[in-house]
Amino acid sequence: MHEVSIAESLIALIRRHLPAHQRLIRATVRIGPMHGVVPEAMEMAWNIASADSGWSGSRLRIVSPPWRLRCVACGRCWEPVTVDEPCVCGGTHVDILGGDEFQLDSIDVDSTAMHRRKKTAKSGDGRQRTFKTGVDHEHQSSHR
Ligand SMILES: [Zn+2]
Repeated sequence: MHEVSIAESLIALIRRHLPAHQRLIRATVRIGPMHGVVPEAMEMAWNIASADSGWSGSRLRIVSPPWRLRCVACGRCWEPVTVDEPCVCGGTHVDILGGDEFQLDSIDVDSTAMHRRKKTAKSGDGRQRTFKTGVDHEHQSSHR
């Protein structure tokens, strides 16, 4: 299955962008129709490959940009339904401007693993340790 190798390349790509000690929640990728990705097969391949990487439950969001062609004969640019659609002028020689995209748009990560560790680190003397995790919660009252 073609989608399995795509999922594996995506995981290698995400690894390079994922901050240390953070878990992937969602990845948004831009994949043009040239890659012939079947969404259902892609989702299945992602579920398997992401679980192997320790990111089970993470989601893959696929953005599919349209084909964009430019007619060599008349210079018209348009978004056809299929890549072999001829231009309205009858021209069949086209330049492909879009539809071959394959890029990682964004990743959503979960850093609450650190917060959770903070809560369980509470020891017998009632002192709480506060780890700086970006957001500062100075007034953690004794309200529970
Ligand atoms: Zn044309």
